[in-house]
Amino acid sequence: MAYSVREASERILAAIAPLPAIEVSLRDALGLVLAQDVVSPIEHPPWDNSSMDGYAVRAADVALATKDAPVVLPVLETVRAGQRPTRSVEGGTAIRVMTGAPVPDGADSVIRVEDTDGGETRVTIRDARDAGRNVRPRGEDLQPGAVAVAAGSVIGPAQLGVLASVGAATVKVHRRPRVAILASGDELVDLDRFDDVRRGDRIVTSNSYTIGASVIGAGGEAVDLGIVRDDPASYAERMAGARDCDVLITSGGVSVGAFDFTKDVLKSLGAELHLWRVLMRPGAPLGFGTLHGMPWLGLPGNPVSAMVTFELFARPAIRRLRGERQVFRKTLDVRLRDDVSIAAPLTHFMRVIVEWDNGTAWARLTGPQGSGLLTSMSRANALLVIPPDRTTLRAGETAHALPIGDGALSVMQLDL
Ligand code: AMP
Ligand code: MG
Repeated sequence: MAYSVREASERILAAIAPLPAIEVSLRDALGLVLAQDVVSPIEHPPWDNSSMDGYAVRAADVALATKDAPVVLPVLETVRAGQRPTRSVEGGTAIRVMTGAPVPDGADSVIRVEDTDGGETRVTIRDARDAGRNVRPRGEDLQPGAVAVAAGSVIGPAQLGVLASVGAATVKVHRRPRVAILASGDELVDLDRFDDVRRGDRIVTSNSYTIGASVIGAGGEAVDLGIVRDDPASYAERMAGARDCDVLITSGGVSVGAFDFTKDVLKSLGAELHLWRVLMRPGAPLGFGTLHGMPWLGLPGNPVSAMVTFELFARPAIRRLRGERQVFRKTLDVRLRDDVSIAAPLTHFMRVIVEWDNGTAWARLTGPQGSGLLTSMSRANALLVIPPDRTTLRAGETAHALPIGDGALSVMQLDL
């Protein structure tokens, strides 16, 4: 039985749950997913503070200040950021404050220095526009007990900064998934045997590179188990390396060839096969199962098929293991530059280059779409999705595209 792309995706993700939480130091938390809400123990900012370099005053005292009729006030003291005021602002006085410095009691406004003469003992205020402004109230950003960063958040630069602000020197995050990668095929070598490739006898295991990089891109740790020969004994030996991994991703040997052993070997090692074959192109002979509880994804060997199936099934699986909640990329509406036709009632994923022109995303094919043409993948920034019931699409029509990386969302000039 073959599964639709959606069914396959649902079956795979149904078998995958977030990894347990571990405690890591904040500096090691970048890119990981918070396993628990982090609650602020403090008020932030901890004091009413000035958002300007200027003069803390009472609004009523400066309300009538203009260039022609300025208000002159005595300056009681100067408060730098990191100092506390020793005086309060009484009616008809000012205290000079720097950005971030506490606003003294009695003041409800900070007049920016640009609207004054900058005086140190007496200040001339020439504009009333800041009356009642420029005081950032204490606790404006965070109250004690408020959730500073919620469970399920990916810890990026902003989250890291908030966590630091509330004193989270360590945080509970989901462990980074360890993803074992195994290539299969008698024809494959790694770069140390490129002479064999030059001689025309072998090809490089590019899947080990594309899948390894894709694992890292999805936020996992790649554990390269190397290459197995197309014979069952070779598999059993290498598979031992997957023992402390959270997922196994194989490539190749999962189709209907006489030497496609991956499924059978996994079964003989105790794997349960949950699905095989998806109604898609490229990538139809995808396998998925569990081996003693460890999910196994059997990607097809063809380099483009391996990458496309990784994108659709392995990436969301890794993101789910990481504890992410939004595991799928959002598709983009694109208009077609080319006529596109498909030969079989399967969901097709075609390599395209998406370019923005006057607010419209236009997609053009990278060229021939053979599943061995990895260079065409390297030029693409999205996969055009053609549903199984659309045999022909005309240039100018609209379709969905799944961005690869964030290339389809990038432009050359500041887009404001
Ligand atoms: P298979 O799925 O094993 O039948 O392989 C299908 C095609 O993908 C064949 O042309 C293989 O040579 C190629 N292939 C399989 N594994 C890899 C790999 N790791 N790197 C590059 N090409 C591969
Ligand atoms: Mg093979």
